[in-house]
Order: sequence, then structure tokens, then C-alpha cells
Amino acid sequence: MYTNTKLTLNPFTTKIIIAIDGHSSTGKSSFAKAIAQELNYIYVDTGAMYRAVTLYGLQHKLVSSDGQIEIEALMAVLPDIHISFQNIAGQNNTFLNRVNVEREIREIAVSQQVSAVSAIAGVRKHLVYLQQQMGKEKGIVMDGRDIGTVVFPQAELKIFMTADPRVRAERRYKELREKGSKVSFDEILNNVIQRDHDDETRSVAPLRKAEDAILLDNSNMIPEEQMAWFRRVIAGS
Ligand code: C5P
Repeated sequence: MYTNTKLTLNPFTTKIIIAIDGHSSTGKSSFAKAIAQELNYIYVDTGAMYRAVTLYGLQHKLVSSDGQIEIEALMAVLPDIHISFQNIAGQNNTFLNRVNVEREIREIAVSQQVSAVSAIAGVRKHLVYLQQQMGKEKGIVMDGRDIGTVVFPQAELKIFMTADPRVRAERRYKELREKGSKVSFDEILNNVIQRDHDDETRSVAPLRKAEDAILLDNSNMIPEEQMAWFRRVIAGS
């Protein structure tokens, strides 16, 4: 189910900012990537940026697997954490201090701590600033949790994605198993539910739909249907 709205600008001829927010594992990244490709825009995965900071924290023992975080020490090293993206054979890859960490940042050890790390105000302030710099020239599709509410409240097009938690857990389960992970379905489902709760109840930039965002519930949609939906939105129909 979705509600539709009109976009008055033509994003092919006028570069705009497209903000995609929503619950975890709703396929935001795949959708955002497909949109960026269609419009020839830059794509930025902000979840990968929070994941990279979390991975750095775990590697340097500033974040522990039982949820303890050395907040001050983590804040002090933020300037040393360089995050960049590179497209390799059509895949978006995340680099942490020049090392490709695309696989590590998706592992459950990072997923379990990333909500706590992203709830730290100083971490958010730092990453939001970097994200706003990336969007200066427009022509960008950015996905995350606070893009339409905090990073780019003036974005010309905002989409808020959601789907049934079990459907989302199944998608992530399949993805991780295909990559060789031994994780169980219940572990993933619990992680999805826990992250929704953490993201929605945190005091800094909680996950919520911006009033002017279009709601897209893709529980029963395949990617092609989503793209057809998107084309209708940008056609203003
Ligand atoms: O999108 P993804 O699931 O990879 O994001 C990982 C985590 O990063 C989320 O669960 C959320 O806690 C955090 N996040 C955030 N703000 C963003 C993007 C991600 O707090 N803009």
C-alpha cells in the first residue's frame, strides 16, 4: 500500500535531492541505487557510514560486543575515520580508511551495535555534516533514517519505506545466508524488531516519517513494481 503525491520538478532536467528513509531491511539501498542509476544521480548509503564507525569502534575496542561504548574516546577518533564509496563492477563498496569493509559492516556483530553507536549525538553531528557536504551539488539519492527530517529537510522528494518485520527478516536472512553467514532466522528477526524499536525511541533524531514524505509499504511488491511506482511519482501522475 502507498499514498501517492505529485512532484512538480522534472528530476532528469533539474537536479534535486531525493531522501529515502524507513525501517531497516526494507530494501532502501537497492531502491535508492536503482533510482540513482535511472536519473544518473550520486547514491549515498548513510547506514554504511554508521556501520563503518561502529566497525572502527569494535576494531579499536571502543565499542564492545556487550554494548559498552567508550563515548569520549570514540568522539576523539572521529576525525581519523575516513569513509568513502566506490563502485566496483556495479556494486557499491564502502571503504574505511582505504580498506574495503563492505562485507564486514554487514555482519551481525556490527548490526547488533550500530543502533547504540548511531544514538550518540556527537557521532550523528559528525556524519550529518559529511552527508550535507555530499549533497551540496544536488543530483543525489541518499538513504537512511533521518535524511528527510534532519539531513535534508528541504529535499524536493522524500520517500518513507516500510514493510512487515517478518518479510524484512526473511529478505536479510536470505542475503546473509547467500554470503555464507550461519546466522539463524530468529536472530535476524529479533535484530530487525530490536533495531526498529531502538531507531524509533532514541532521543537524538528518532526514525519517523517526515510529514511531506510519501509512504511506500513494499511488503507485497517486487523491485520492478517499486520502480514503476517511482516512475509514476516523478511523472507527477
Ligand atoms: O540502513 P542500515 O540498516 O544499514 O543502517 C544501520 C543502522 O544505522 C540503523 O539501524 C540505524 O541505527 C543507523 N542509521 C541511522 N541514521 C541513518 C542511517 C542509519 O541512525 N541515517
